[in-house]
Amino acid sequence: MKLRIGNGFDIHRFADDSSRPLVLGGVTIPGEVGLLGHSDADVITHAVAEALLGAAGLGDLGSHFPDTDDRWRGAVSTELLAHVMVLVREKGWQVANVDCSVIAERPKLSPHRQEMQELLSAVVEAPVTIKGRRAEGIGGLGRSEGIACTASALLIGNEESS
Ligand code: MG
Repeated sequence: MKLRIGNGFDIHRFADDSSRPLVLGGVTIPGEVGLLGHSDADVITHAVAEALLGAAGLGDLGSHFPDTDDRWRGAVSTELLAHVMVLVREKGWQVANVDCSVIAERPKLSPHRQEMQELLSAVVEAPVTIKGRRAEGIGGLGRSEGIACTASALLIGNEESS
């Protein structure tokens, strides 16, 4: 049995446009201003995808879905994650688990955590756990200028995995 570990990080600034929806872990959170980005700016899903790509030696999210490509404008990030999973499986890997830490002053994640975890777990076909952490008022994240997320992913493979 082969094992590979990967880490992912992403950060997005809140949009000035208050009509932009906030999407986190595939869940649209009502009553909150969204994040700026070429896609839906789902910072949790992006960090998960980066961790999986890293573990499988497949580069980073930007090289697969460049923000200069109009195909990915407004893209649903869980669909990008599903595409990443196709690439990961093609190399002979399956996901053992993914664990995420979200750093944000707002919104409160706890009311949405279960739904996010179930949604992302279904996409990667393995447990995805999400923890929330405030930035204690430090820096731009502490001033609620945006949301950051880290993710760790573990892949399991066999002799054919590469
Ligand atoms: Mg991103």
